[in-house]
This record gives sequence, structure tokens and C-alpha cells, in this order.
Amino acid sequence: MSASKTTYDPNNIFAKILRGEIPCKKVYEDDFVLAFYDIVPISPVHVLVIPKNPYVSFADFTANAKPEEIACFMKAVGKIAKDLGIEEDGYRLVTNIGKNSGQEVPHFHVHILGGRQFGPLG
Ligand code: AMP
Repeated sequence: MSASKTTYDPNNIFAKILRGEIPCKKVYEDDFVLAFYDIVPISPVHVLVIPKNPYVSFADFTANAKPEEIACFMKAVGKIAKDLGIEEDGYRLVTNIGKNSGQEVPHFHVHILGGRQFGPLG
């Protein structure tokens, strides 16, 4: 089964955050998007941006979300990074998709990583 066809698990941890069942350290929220600090940061700035609607991964999101939702999500990621003050020095965006990537939480999310120098990918 491809990542874009995987069934969404409503009991994943980010679904629980969206329902308010577990707390998060919120950075940003709008009609489509929630952003909060990663609980195990790997850089001085480590924020997760998630859509409010249920998508398993980037593959599911890009295949099935409405264009308006995709546009709002992408603009929110850029705005959040800018508001975090990491745009000038630069930052890294990461989204893990499925088994080979090591995706742990099956609700689409983008990691915004900043505040330090990163090495080459690979
Ligand atoms: P991924 O491996 O791309 O699925 O990343 C999942 C991320 O979610 C990891 O960086 C975790 O540290 C983070 N995470 C897991 N549980 C929580 C939580 N309750 N609040 C914030 N971040 C979390």
C-alpha cells in the first residue's frame, strides 16, 4: 500500500494534541494549521507544523488535500519560520514519509529546524 493510501489512525499522538487530550507548547494556530515545539528537540529551534485535517503523511496530504489547504499550510510554515527569527540565518525543513524515512507519528508534519549549522544530507 502506498503512503498516500494508508489508513489514518485517529489515536496517533498528534490527533490527541489536536483534540486537546494531551498538551503541547503552541507556537501558531489558524483554521488549517497547528504548530508546536517538538518534545525532543534536535536543534535550538525545533517546531512541528501539522494540518488540522487527518493526513497520514506528505504523500497523503499532497494527493488528497484541497489546493487552498496546501497553500495555507505552506504559507504558514514560511510565516512561522520567519516569526521564530530563523529566516536570516537559514533553517532546514524535514518531513518523513513512511517506513524508509523513519516516520514515527502517522499524522503529516513538517519539522522546522533552526538555530544551528546542519551538515549535508545523507
Ligand atoms: P517523525 O519521526 O518525523 O514522525 O517525528 C515525530 C516527532 O514528534 C519527533 O521529533 C518527536 O520528538 C515528536 N513528538 C512525539 N510526541 C510529541 C509530543 N507529545 N509533543 C511534541 N512533539 C512530539
